[in-house]
Amino acid sequence: MKARTRKEKEVERLSKRLWPVTGSKKEYALGLIPKEAWWRGRDFGCFCTCCGHEWEMDSAPSETAVCPACGAELKAVRTRKENGKFYMFMAVISVCGKYQVIRFVEARRIIHGKRVFSEAEEVVRLWIDVNGNHLTQTIKYGVMHYNVYWKYGTCMELRNPCFSVNFYVDGICGKQSVLSELRRNGYKGRLNGFTPLDVFKGLLQNSMFETLWKANRFDILKSCTDLNRLRLEWPSVRIVLRNNYRTDDWQIWFDTMSMMRRCGMDVTNSVYVCPDDIRRVHDEVQKRLERMERRKKQVELEEKMKCVDKVLERLSKYGEIRFCDGKWNVLTLHTAKEYFDEGNHMHHCVWSNEYWKKKDCLILSVRRNDDNARVATVELSLSSYTIQQCRGVSNKVPEQVDDIERLIKDNMYRYKRVANNN
Ligand SMILES: [Zn+2]
Repeated sequence: MKARTRKEKEVERLSKRLWPVTGSKKEYALGLIPKEAWWRGRDFGCFCTCCGHEWEMDSAPSETAVCPACGAELKAVRTRKENGKFYMFMAVISVCGKYQVIRFVEARRIIHGKRVFSEAEEVVRLWIDVNGNHLTQTIKYGVMHYNVYWKYGTCMELRNPCFSVNFYVDGICGKQSVLSELRRNGYKGRLNGFTPLDVFKGLLQNSMFETLWKANRFDILKSCTDLNRLRLEWPSVRIVLRNNYRTDDWQIWFDTMSMMRRCGMDVTNSVYVCPDDIRRVHDEVQKRLERMERRKKQVELEEKMKCVDKVLERLSKYGEIRFCDGKWNVLTLHTAKEYFDEGNHMHHCVWSNEYWKKKDCLILSVRRNDDNARVATVELSLSSYTIQQCRGVSNKVPEQVDDIERLIKDNMYRYKRVANNN
């Protein structure tokens, strides 16, 4: 990416001022790599992953061993491995111009048979301005099977990388220098388990992050990576800070606060905000919310039924029509509740698909004579006086569909008569 804006040109110019990562910094990065003594278990031969030296021990190594060649203190690891790769990440944190610079140094150790290769190299550099916006420089990289690999030894240049540069680091090398704004906002040289970019951006851009950071409430910060959520619950978080409230499950706490708000509870009251047993409160509030939502749905349904009843007024004249034979009893539906119950009991869509809206259509419910159980629902066309469909439970074709249809056809004159009387 070619530097185009003034800021990009400035970063490129400043970039030339930075010393390459060499000497003690490199040593520090390499020192982060785990030092291991591999032994195979059968005999007491050991392999030093630092220098590749092999030696015989008098007995099985205990937890640690010292390499006789390089003097490194090694962690004894029983393994059959011949090859291995270690990658660690170190940050150098400094100020250059008016930018906070984070230099990411990758230390790698490749073990191949008896050969050991170690190298440390700066691969990414972030330039953060006082507003928390950053520019990225990286060496060249490639992507294979969704993995990024570095092209070592290439130029550090401004790029828009296709991967996230929000890296965690295994160590910070040497003395840090930071922008005075960062010091003012609470940065004391420790990342407390966050990525450097998250910390610097958070402290420069977000006053809530800054408040929590200054109060050492990393537990809350860690559980709430979504700052929008933090913003929503901020009034409650302030109560938490004031009461120095602790819990081991902040996710549950955030969920609870959000449900309390929806219930209309006072989320600035410390009695609600700082409970002893957050899980119990969470379950209680959840039940309360569910009850409220059921009630709300019921009210909505009733409202809707009122509207539907108005629409159905035009069919009320047919409502009186009912007839039966020895087996069945046929009713003509003409209220919202009847439509709703019919759909509910028969598991079909006469209610949800809004059959009451169809101008031409009349719905009949066929019940068994002896126990009044629903057997079928029938759609009648009011213009042609024909049966459009006859459905049983779950839209299946009912048994004895012919008998039912015959009964209705025999009584069709009742509908014609009511229609003609108006
Ligand atoms: Zn060694």
